Amino acid sequence: MVSRVIPVDPFDLVIFGGTGDLARRKILPGLFRRFRAGTMPEESRIIGSARSEHDDAEYRQIVRDAIGEFGGDEKEDKAGIDAFVERLHYVRVDAKGDDGWKELAGMMRDGIIRAFYFSVGPSLFGDIAERLNRFDVADDKSRIVVEKPFGRDLQSAKELNATLRSHFREDQIYRIDHYLGKETVQNLMAIRFGNVLFEPLWNNHYIDHIQITVAETVGVGGRGAYYDKSGAMRDMVQNHLMQLLCLIAMEAPSQFDADAVRDEKLKVIRALQPVDYHHLVRGQYDAEGDQPSYREDAEDPRSFTESFIALRCHIANWRWAGVPFYLRTGKKLKARSSEIAVVFQDLGHSIFEGDEKRHRNILAIRLQPNEGIDLQVTIKEPGPGGMRLIDVPLDMTFADALGPEAEDVPDAYERLIMDVFRGNQTLFMRGDEVEAAWAWTDPIIAGWEARGDVPKLYEPGTAGPDDSAMLLHRDNRRWRDIKA
Ligand code: NAD
Repeated sequence: MVSRVIPVDPFDLVIFGGTGDLARRKILPGLFRRFRAGTMPEESRIIGSARSEHDDAEYRQIVRDAIGEFGGDEKEDKAGIDAFVERLHYVRVDAKGDDGWKELAGMMRDGIIRAFYFSVGPSLFGDIAERLNRFDVADDKSRIVVEKPFGRDLQSAKELNATLRSHFREDQIYRIDHYLGKETVQNLMAIRFGNVLFEPLWNNHYIDHIQITVAETVGVGGRGAYYDKSGAMRDMVQNHLMQLLCLIAMEAPSQFDADAVRDEKLKVIRALQPVDYHHLVRGQYDAEGDQPSYREDAEDPRSFTESFIALRCHIANWRWAGVPFYLRTGKKLKARSSEIAVVFQDLGHSIFEGDEKRHRNILAIRLQPNEGIDLQVTIKEPGPGGMRLIDVPLDMTFADALGPEAEDVPDAYERLIMDVFRGNQTLFMRGDEVEAAWAWTDPIIAGWEARGDVPKLYEPGTAGPDDSAMLLHRDNRRWRDIKA
């Protein structure tokens, strides 16, 4: 198969927070994989930056160690690592002071793309954006990349947007949601809009309901005190699950470009109806053996923050009227598994005598651990003995058809960072999308705060509180099993 990777122009990538956890865990190992794949042009450089004092040699060692700790098979490529770290430099800057900025400005080169990754807490975004301009580090074509959390409510998101936009144009701002960088998430768009088969069925005439699950097995562990200020709604639903919901529910954009796609996603968010509190379940994991409970992890014995949430929501438009979207996400659940399931309606009438089982088609899009798509179809059970029907998955991952290249897809961060250099914002959130998502989220949170709702306890290693199962039982439906 001929690879059709779109090349990128030479770039200088400055990573603020270049010694931090996200940089070491995701960004730098991801860049190394792109370097090995040959998608990092010769003249490109990566400039790490943080408050601590290091020279280039020390920073290169930090990155070697990070690749050793967080890299995959590629960490065995010693010669590759030697060549990669030659591209790395380090400049100490203080985001809140003026030290180091002139030196950074002096390193910038004309005619080379400048990208600035804000891998620091959001309280520093404004300081960095302002200094990038004041010290002429950024030019008119520069791009900035910002991480979640993008605000904690509508008001703070608006303020953050206003701050960033006072220094950069919207087309220079790349708000990362790494779920959008996943291969299957993009495949979802290819399946919907590249085939004639699915789109005619993609509406309330044929779809019974949709489930979106993001289940984790880990607890909040060492970052409990931080997590306790956000909870599952802010940390996962407002951004990741919302983005997945948009891609499932949006109308076909007139073309696959950034604004056309994001306009359609925005319409979905704006059409989301308020969530009735009967359709909302919040939970906290309990202690198990010597494993601490959520409240112990959060270091607050009276915490009301949720480590699990399940809700039913509706999109008020012609396509989706009457079709429930069930969303759930939580920590310490029975398996690490994320999937979107499009559950089609039951067959209206079965011609097969004695076949009383409920047969339905389900399109399941797995995001992790092993990305892939399968379509559950009903077929005849092989062999003699009459017409017995069974439901089997039709694997649409197509590894055989695509060969080894299908195995070697870049991870979400790698792909998104490369899109920044390509100037492609399709898989990044626009400011108005983020604000619309908070505008939907805020009243839900305000509602449970006003009612003083206490999250239900759930046993670790389960599918969450019993009330979550009840949420669907009441509608005569059930969650799909959470399995690895
Ligand atoms: P971290 O605390 O590990 O790293 C922060 C970095 O910022 C360090 O390199 C530190 O030296 C630098 N820094 C702090 N104050 C500074 C200042 N005044 N001037 C210059 N540099 C300064 O944090 P992290 O986990 O890497 O997270 C970074 C951002 O990414 C946060 O916004 C976080 O919410 C987000 N994020 C992190 C993860 C993750 O897996 N770690 C995942 C998603 C989003």
